[in-house]
Amino acid sequence: MNSRIEKIRQLLSELDAETANTFRGDGGFSALELPDIIGEVVDDLQPILTAYDAAFYWFLFRHSIAKDGNPQIRVSRSTLRRAVVKSSYTNAAENNISFGKVQDTLRALEEIGAIQKLGEPNRQGTLYRVLIPDEIEACRKFRAERMAEETELFPLSNKSQHRTRMQVFERDGYKCTKCGKQLTRFTATTDYVKSPADGGDENPENLVTTCADCSSRRRR
Ligand SMILES: [Zn+2]
Repeated sequence: MNSRIEKIRQLLSELDAETANTFRGDGGFSALELPDIIGEVVDDLQPILTAYDAAFYWFLFRHSIAKDGNPQIRVSRSTLRRAVVKSSYTNAAENNISFGKVQDTLRALEEIGAIQKLGEPNRQGTLYRVLIPDEIEACRKFRAERMAEETELFPLSNKSQHRTRMQVFERDGYKCTKCGKQLTRFTATTDYVKSPADGGDENPENLVTTCADCSSRRRR
């Protein structure tokens, strides 16, 4: 009986390691993307969060994507209680936030889509995936509204081209239309439906979102 439980434990920890590796290869982020991602979080995610939500998001971000590019993090409620921010409701010397507040904040971030629970808690805490604004529908919506108003954020010459590309990415949900891979606005490229040689133009209707691999495969 005990040896069977031991075997199950071993299988579970192997599975856990495999999932972590899949993410590192597939959904991982490079250090080069970091400044842009941080800009996105401030521009497109933070304005739709409360102060507690934002503090928690940055804490989780710092210990996942900002640490080694891996969007996964296992974290316990007792760590979050002590390590993120002070409570704004008490004046006690050790004014940690309550377990209830930790739970509420995690739930709020999950509802917005900023984090995703990947499994049930164990002794080391719960495994979460931290998402970046490109992957969060609420952020993409907020960004589209913001861009419609603040066109002067982008230099004039690149403005219309930039907006066309963003429109195509938004429409396709930042997914490669060839292989279905989830992309970000830094890894996504566009491809023509009808090539310029055949009279295809630069309008969004003639463009689709692709990943770099599918786009170069086609050109070869
Ligand atoms: Zn692709």
